[in-house]
Amino acid sequence: MEQRRKAAGELHLELTDMRRNPYLADYEKGRRETGPVRPAPRTKRAVAEKARPVSWGASGASQARYAEQREHRERERRGTRTVSDERRRSQRDRARLQKVRAQRRGVALGCLLGAAVLLFLLLRIVGGAGAVKTAGSFSESVRGFLESFGEERIQGIRASVFYQHPEWTEDFLTVNEYSRPGEPLPRVSNIFVHYTANPQTSAAQNRSYFENLKDNHERSASAHFIIGYEGEILQCIPLNEIAYAVQTRNYDSISIECCYLAEDGSFTQETYDSLIRLLKWLTEAYHLKPEDILRHYDCGGKKCPLYYTEHPDAWEQLIQDVSEL
Ligand SMILES: [Zn+2]
Repeated sequence: MEQRRKAAGELHLELTDMRRNPYLADYEKGRRETGPVRPAPRTKRAVAEKARPVSWGASGASQARYAEQREHRERERRGTRTVSDERRRSQRDRARLQKVRAQRRGVALGCLLGAAVLLFLLLRIVGGAGAVKTAGSFSESVRGFLESFGEERIQGIRASVFYQHPEWTEDFLTVNEYSRPGEPLPRVSNIFVHYTANPQTSAAQNRSYFENLKDNHERSASAHFIIGYEGEILQCIPLNEIAYAVQTRNYDSISIECCYLAEDGSFTQETYDSLIRLLKWLTEAYHLKPEDILRHYDCGGKKCPLYYTEHPDAWEQLIQDVSEL
């Protein structure tokens, strides 16, 4: 009992000594001086260190080998996928590029065709109105077309072309329903040659005959030009109006009446020469070929002009003379 007390007393003494331990006192004092312990600052390195997986149970060597194998597999997997991806992407891109190029080609071709058609139509319109002087090359047509902008027109023909016509006397008929209806002539496809069927009458007399139809109403008849047996040319109807000369063809042709003296209907040399000059100018003004010059006979069978229906070789010579003038 005494021994137990003694032991307890020793323990008590020891505890007392511990409390009095100068080291402990210093430790407590030190805590008081430095303040509470703060956590270490979170640096990037510290975070990385903490995030590094901890391997359990594997030795350092096998751990490194495992990491190497995994990295190799990963690299291989990534490499394969990247190559096939690239191939697929490049194929897709090529297809898309080809599609875009095809679309662009289509649009360009369409624009080109549209422009060509538009230019062709414009040239046809202007050429049909007698604006193009000669049936020259395409570039000449284009130049003529460009030059025609803003140019004055006379009887539907460009002034520069119109004023090159052979000398004639303008003496228009009065507008009337029997010889000059005043209707517009939309285009000119042919030029018809006639004879007056009334020998030894002058151009003036034949003009009067047409003019008087408005009063006597005998019939409907007229022509744009009358060429006298002395070679004089009378213009009775403007070139942008129709005449009553060839049934079914009044709306796309120009007509010329020729006076004559001989019973066989052949023309005097003066009439012939004036006719050739007038035909030459008309074919150029309307962009026509010499073959577009026709006899009244060629459309309806009427024997007009008489001499040239009975002498086809003389007609061929006439066409030849126009082309060689
Ligand atoms: Zn006729």
